[in-house]
Amino acid sequence: MGLFEGKKGLIFGVANKYSIAWGIAQALAAEGAELGFSYAGPALERRVRPLAESLNARYIEPCDVTRDEDIERAFAKAQEVYGTIDFLVHAIAFAKREELDGRFVDTSRDGFHLAMDVSVYSLVALTRAAEPLMPNGGSILTLTYYGSEKVMPHYNVMGVAKAALEASVRYLAADLGPKGIRVNAISAGPIKTLSASGVAGFRRMLHHFSKVAPLRRNVTQEDIGKTALWLLSDWANAVTGEVIYVDAGYNILGLTVPLEELS
Ligand code: NAP
Repeated sequence: MGLFEGKKGLIFGVANKYSIAWGIAQALAAEGAELGFSYAGPALERRVRPLAESLNARYIEPCDVTRDEDIERAFAKAQEVYGTIDFLVHAIAFAKREELDGRFVDTSRDGFHLAMDVSVYSLVALTRAAEPLMPNGGSILTLTYYGSEKVMPHYNVMGVAKAALEASVRYLAADLGPKGIRVNAISAGPIKTLSASGVAGFRRMLHHFSKVAPLRRNVTQEDIGKTALWLLSDWANAVTGEVIYVDAGYNILGLTVPLEELS
């Protein structure tokens, strides 16, 4: 019997089969979870629907997380289909391409607001909407990146958004802990996905990462999926408000030069 047999949850943020959210969905489905999928808008339905249907999803709904009415409708529908849910995955981020090149100091007001709205406020809004569907407790998971803590080339406004996202995880965990709802983040190493390809120089960054990370490799969707399973399951039932690194150890380094080059 799978770890998630009899458990139901929603996944926000599958864009295509390379999405981190899809890696998490596959890991959950393999353990028997019943999954519902929400995607950003009509343009994505063509890609997301066949993936969701391959896991027999009963819930496949559009939701632009910048629109309160979309969130309200998406969760009303989830309540209709499932009644209650056990977990929620938030794997959503966005910044304008021009903000992910050049200097952070040149970030526009509009670009700053948009990145914070889609990548940070959406977690707050989705968590609030999920709360009534989790009367017996639950687990909420978001995705972050080390650019929240250290300056990463071209990550710019998204680094600032991820710092705010991680702080939001802690505040949400404190608010919802008394109801048995846990909120955590996985800080993933770089993976080539649609959003990641918007960051200038990403391919070279991936190469560098695999040369210096303690495990001497990049991380995969499957790596993230396995840790997500743990955080979303009862195995992590006393873990909340945390940022867990799944990054082949990269974040522990003080000097990101391979040891071989120093000897
Ligand atoms: P992805 O496949 O492109 O997924 C990002 C998702 O966010 C897409 O489904 C995208 O839909 C959705 N989104 C953007 N704006 C939205 C909106 N207004 N409403 C609803 N959904 C919206 O990329 P990913 O790399 O898997 O990203 C998932 C999460 O992992 C993000 O939070 C990202 O920052 C984080 N992360 C990624 C990496 C990495 O290296 N890939 C590392 C650490 C953390 P559209 O395509 O329609 O915009």
